[in-house]
Amino acid sequence: GPHLDRPHVVLVASPGAGHLMPMAELARRLVAHHALAATLVTFADLSGDPDAHSAAVLSSLRAANVSTATLPAVPLDDLPADACIETVLLEVIGRSIPHLRALLHDVGNTAAPLAALVPDLFATAALPLASELGVPGYIFFPSNLSVLSVMRSAVELNDGAGAGEYHDLPDPLPLPGGVSLRREDVPSGLRYSKEPAYAQLIQVGRRYRTAAGFLVNTFYEMDPATVEEFKKAAQQGRFPPAYPVGPFVRSSSDEGGVSSPCIEWLDRQPTGSVVYVSFGSAGTLSVEQTAELAAGLEDSGHRFLWIVRMPSLDGEHSDDMGRKSRGGGDENDPLAWLPEGFLERTRGRGLAVASWAPQVRVLSHPATAAFVSHCGWNSTLESVSSGVPMVAWPLYAEQRMNAMVLSENLGVALRLRVLTDDGLVGREQIAAAVRELMEGEDGRAVRRRTGDLQQAADLAWARDGSSRRTLEEVVGRWTAGALGKVSVVSS
Ligand code: UDP
Repeated sequence: GPHLDRPHVVLVASPGAGHLMPMAELARRLVAHHALAATLVTFADLSGDPDAHSAAVLSSLRAANVSTATLPAVPLDDLPADACIETVLLEVIGRSIPHLRALLHDVGNTAAPLAALVPDLFATAALPLASELGVPGYIFFPSNLSVLSVMRSAVELNDGAGAGEYHDLPDPLPLPGGVSLRREDVPSGLRYSKEPAYAQLIQVGRRYRTAAGFLVNTFYEMDPATVEEFKKAAQQGRFPPAYPVGPFVRSSSDEGGVSSPCIEWLDRQPTGSVVYVSFGSAGTLSVEQTAELAAGLEDSGHRFLWIVRMPSLDGEHSDDMGRKSRGGGDENDPLAWLPEGFLERTRGRGLAVASWAPQVRVLSHPATAAFVSHCGWNSTLESVSSGVPMVAWPLYAEQRMNAMVLSENLGVALRLRVLTDDGLVGREQIAAAVRELMEGEDGRAVRRRTGDLQQAADLAWARDGSSRRTLEEVVGRWTAGALGKVSVVSS
């Protein structure tokens, strides 16, 4: 059963697989390694259409003695149709707070003492509930410390400013460790002070200051200068402490042992020969960009495993062209959008799979040698944890910043860029980057540094590893606080 006698932690994951998965892994470890009881709270699915992967994550959590709860849906029909994803997320969370309060009171009545409330980076509207309940509120940050650093810069820059008076971040923005961030690489929502999301993110960030601390999904060697900068800020009382406690990467056994066409195909490929291509749970390319990528992979001459999603059909033009040239192909089959003859020409050395792969199993497979990645933070940590170097192809959110950190600070990725007026990453550049990473001198250096970082990632969660010990210290404080309260009540 779910350990009703242990001090209890409630975690709140904002909508999105990329937020849920690392928090689920944190919850699992709090129960398995740190003698806590945990409940993971999620929001009703935004599309109203529950996604199968999130459902699988939640059911595997219950099997690991983590309780789960989903808050009821809230009305959103008053939001403008073009509201950005950050705005929608924050509205859902804000409107769900009364439901969360009710749930927390129920938990308080049925389970062992509440030890801490842990909302994630967007769910900070839940922090006041921690004070209401008299428990510490910690923020889980599923992304990296550099992103937290940019959030902090935006908050400090706009200290005391009222709505409508916000300032743009400096361009370039200096980061700890001596690198600077160009405006185009700033996480979306924070690029311009006039964007609607900017004001909302300032509000979120102001609440960060009321947190007892941050649990960040990273480890020391990933970002040493930023870890040190946050340490100093905490010592001087300028910002709550940010604890690197990751990487939270699920184990490949959590992806289900069921047979997978990807894995069966990889089993038949030579060791270290395959380039894995995937853009996360939400990344899409245009029809033209998909064709360019196909040509690049074909020209690279290397083996590839490509997880193909439906192309985005923004331009009516591409939409129409795609359909005409397909002659009535299945509109829900992403493979039908690949260029004419591509699958036939690459048969034997390439596999294109629709929609989804067991990614941790793919990355840890001996045949996998490189990852063409959108640089979502989970994918990045999974790649590093498997020692797989990346070709960085960022698409949205904080991915450009991640790509910058990975290529410029850490040297574990080669970055692709849009170099021409058509807004596309060209086939020559794609083929060249894949070849460089697989065969070249620069590629060799990237592969070596990725190996070094993999070792550091392994050590962080080994017995006595830095992240594991740090989490133990924080949990020790939670437990002491919770048990202290019990003895006061019972004496
Ligand atoms: N993922 C997967 N199979 C896929 C695509 C994605 O297992 O075909 C998983 C991936 O392993 C990662 C998560 O979905 O854990 C995606 O998170 P990330 O932060 O990389 O990107 P996001 O989807 O949030 O953009």
